[in-house]
Amino acid sequence: MSVPSLRERLAVGPGRVDLGAIDPSATPGVKSRRRADDARGQLSTELGDLQERLWARSQCEGDRQRVLLVLQGMDTSGKDGAIKRGLDGANPKWLHLASFGPPTDEEQAHHFLWRIRRQVPEPGMIGVFDRSHYEDVIAVRVKGLAPEDAWRPRFEEINAFERQLHDDGVSIVKVMLHISRDYQRERQLRRLERIDKRWKFNEGDLDDRDRWDEFMVAYEEALERCNTSVAPWYVVPADRKWYRTWAVSLLVVETLRALDLRYPERPELDIEALRARLLAS
Ligand code: ATP
Repeated sequence: MSVPSLRERLAVGPGRVDLGAIDPSATPGVKSRRRADDARGQLSTELGDLQERLWARSQCEGDRQRVLLVLQGMDTSGKDGAIKRGLDGANPKWLHLASFGPPTDEEQAHHFLWRIRRQVPEPGMIGVFDRSHYEDVIAVRVKGLAPEDAWRPRFEEINAFERQLHDDGVSIVKVMLHISRDYQRERQLRRLERIDKRWKFNEGDLDDRDRWDEFMVAYEEALERCNTSVAPWYVVPADRKWYRTWAVSLLVVETLRALDLRYPERPELDIEALRARLLAS
């Protein structure tokens, strides 16, 4: 029997999503912290190698493939750490990072996908969304920023949008970093107590915390309604930093592996003539 990939293990299955049934401190797919940490060196080398192939193919073969990692999670779920450590090994030159906070007045004046479309990675790139269009069916819903008849149709719009991206070569990896409420309290307390963390403290995050259950319901429905074969959702238990870092890294690497990224052969080059020219110079 073959070992399931991490994508298989963490994929949200069909049907109802019950986040309460997923233990945020679980570590599916790896036995110990030591093993995860040991694997990370090799994973980051592989990530760098695959990323280079992805870029090379876009440059030499007009390959339109790219990867988009969408990160969602409650405050303190570790999106920043997942970007910083989960993607180490990637060349920043071929990474495109976009963070989505509350929409500006200009963004607000447009369709909710307007600001998102502008940040879709170009062919050959790895894009990372630190929050995303999912805020428009999660935060907007929970905070009552739009009526239900405005946000509910967005599930279908998101599915159509993601299918369009997929058809244009974008491999979408959607990750929810799943933490427990207790873990969040501990991290938010640390922010108050430690001077090197205090700059991150935002009282508005406590308002979101007060609506934890509503957020979970909104997450569950978003994960359920927008879990498609072309843009699947993964739930990464995130109470353990080392696990979430390893898992995000491996999910991206597995996605790249599945693309069959051979280096371009460049048949247009006359290798013999160019070699002779070099040898004579
Ligand atoms: P984070 O909480 O992601 O670490 P941060 O503390 O730097 O980020 P910002 O990036 O300024 O904060 O904003 C994040 C906040 O923006 C979150 O509370 C999120 O719910 C909210 N947000 C993002 N997109 C939207 C949206 N489309 N509508 C309403 N609120 C949104």
